Amino acid sequence: MNIGVLAIQGAFAEHEQKLTALGADVFEIRQAKDLQNPMDGLILPGGESTVMGKLLQDLDLFDPLHKRIKEGLPVMGTCAGLILLAKQLADDDVVHFATMPVEVKRNAYGRQLGSFHTTHEMKGVGMIPMNFIRAPYVTKCTDEVEILAQVDEKIVAVQYKKQLGLAFHPEVTDCDKVHAYFLDMCQKR
Ligand code: GLN
Repeated sequence: MNIGVLAIQGAFAEHEQKLTALGADVFEIRQAKDLQNPMDGLILPGGESTVMGKLLQDLDLFDPLHKRIKEGLPVMGTCAGLILLAKQLADDDVVHFATMPVEVKRNAYGRQLGSFHTTHEMKGVGMIPMNFIRAPYVTKCTDEVEILAQVDEKIVAVQYKKQLGLAFHPEVTDCDKVHAYFLDMCQKR
């Protein structure tokens, strides 16, 4: 399976390690020509969504990736990646791909409390470690969106069709269950 990892900013290398260890063929997306690779799935990593949004435009990656996601390419967005997928942002007018019918609040836990670690159940995946780093959470979603995890009543994992959105960072833990779940989604396509 060929998985493209957006590698313009943020925590992309950790995703690549997890996916490679699970047997996937991984390539980095840094410029438009990288999209000529066959792609069965896409990772939008954590980092800074405002920076990533701007770089996606500047590097001419935004339109082709937007089209692929709308056409049903499986995608996993973690943290800033979830923000890139959200149709609406709670305190912000700037949206990015806007392909997932959820409202997301950036830095939702506040600047001080935004980073923490917990272990929690994720539907279809099991008990997993969850690392939150200046994390967002989902404040609203439509009925078509499946809620996969809630921590302290906040929605932190959602799935809409072939789009998986996580408020936490599964790539910085020693658990590979979320990546295995995503590869399974890509395979079923
Ligand atoms: N706070 C970041 C943002 O708004 C997201 C943080 C992260 O990806 N760890 O984009």
